[in-house]
Amino acid sequence: MTKVRVRFAPSPTGPLHMGGVRTALYNYLFAKKQGGDFLLRIEDTDQNRFIPSAEEYILESLSWCGIHWDEGPDRPGPYTPYRQSERKNLYRQYALQLAESGHAYYAFDTPEELEAMRKKMESEKTGNPQYDSHTRTLMKNSLTLSEKEVNQRLENGEPHVIRIKTPETGEVVLEDLIRGTVRVNASLLDDKVLFKGDGMPTYHLANVVDDYLMKITHVIRGEEWLPSAPLHVLLYRFLGWEKEMPRFAHLPLLLKPDGNGKLSKRDGDRLGFPVFPLQWKDPATGETSSGYRESGYFPEAFVNILALLGWNPGTEKETFSMKELVEAFSLERVSKSGARFDPEKARWFNHQYLQKKNTEELAELFLEELKERDHFPHKEKVIRITEMIKERVNFVHEMWEQAAFFFEAPTTYDEKFAKKRWRSDTPENLLLIADRLENLEVFSIDNIENTLHAYMEESGKGAGKIMPGLRLALVGAGIGPDLKEIMEILGKEEVVKRIRKAVQEIPVN
Ligand code: GLU
Repeated sequence: MTKVRVRFAPSPTGPLHMGGVRTALYNYLFAKKQGGDFLLRIEDTDQNRFIPSAEEYILESLSWCGIHWDEGPDRPGPYTPYRQSERKNLYRQYALQLAESGHAYYAFDTPEELEAMRKKMESEKTGNPQYDSHTRTLMKNSLTLSEKEVNQRLENGEPHVIRIKTPETGEVVLEDLIRGTVRVNASLLDDKVLFKGDGMPTYHLANVVDDYLMKITHVIRGEEWLPSAPLHVLLYRFLGWEKEMPRFAHLPLLLKPDGNGKLSKRDGDRLGFPVFPLQWKDPATGETSSGYRESGYFPEAFVNILALLGWNPGTEKETFSMKELVEAFSLERVSKSGARFDPEKARWFNHQYLQKKNTEELAELFLEELKERDHFPHKEKVIRITEMIKERVNFVHEMWEQAAFFFEAPTTYDEKFAKKRWRSDTPENLLLIADRLENLEVFSIDNIENTLHAYMEESGKGAGKIMPGLRLALVGAGIGPDLKEIMEILGKEEVVKRIRKAVQEIPVN
């Protein structure tokens, strides 16, 4: 059996959208499941849209996700180079071969002439204003000009392009692994430019030639390329490569959270979630777009989110490691219809991964945050705190909000809570408790608990009268984890100090 070889072939025209990362991921999973190769090929033939930092961004994004390529621009393989601009000299011969075999032709139309054709067709409403098997007979090309004139023009170095000559009749049929049979009437196809005046191939030619030369067995890509697929099938046929043609699989679109239309950069800005894997700074405008990495997502969570946007395992299982995804993935379970992106679910996934992280590792991340806030606590203390609060957060950057009171005494007290729970006898009770706590030799959870119990018993005041006020004094609010544990972590001096301070500052109702 031939070895499976797939490729992710981004154009470095800007940051990679999360849909692009999903395409890369599905290619990777498919290849690894079959013991095949995953290639990264940079399709940079469109010089006008080229953005220098985009390639680096693409490589960094995939690396962050743990999507490793076997061959690529930085990882030489049998078909090096993997950047199309560096393969430039390779494509012309195929364009010429097509012209010689009558499957392509030279076209000399100027931009003004093309524009005039478009206008004329639009006003006559005779169909799609495109260069195709109907309109090419009216244009300036090697099908309408004499051989002598064509040669003359070529010798003179007149600007020209090479276009594919699509058939006037018949159907182009392709079997898509996700969509099934796709049929197109050949006469509706555009005579796309294959080779440009600047000596560069267009996407269509370069893409097909490279897939052939690099022995690609499956082309897995976004649905937006489905309209180009019949043209690619024709190219394989015309170049005599039909037997080697890869199988096609066009992935469903990623849809907006409300399901209406394609997920776009603007939805992210509007609804407050990233659409890019990493933060991106537009080199032209300086505008910054947020990224999953910088927003605090773990790469494992991001990958898991993407995996389930268009594919389902057929079971209830939702969290998958990369290894599990490789085992479970199949194109048969990729859906035809668009996948709705749910930002709430995305946060839920990060929550799941945060719970799974080992507490020490999480504490290290939290320590970094604390450092930035000029707190340098003992690691052991941070590990304990992390264990206590991790269930309450989706992201590491939310930990501070949950744990700030461990590091800074409250400066304000939740007014609403105080109104309800800070009673006339609260100060007196708390001060007496503070005195008793101050006398403890060992400030442990057990001793704290015993002290509080003893006070409640002796004074006849229940926990409902004591604990909320105590919490307000120590935390500044009515929320937080177990109070006795908080007290042990804060330490005797700090607890006593906070109680006495709160008694001074919180007005009695
Ligand atoms: N360069 C194309 C892109 O930017 C590749 C499409 C394909 O995979 O054929 O997505």
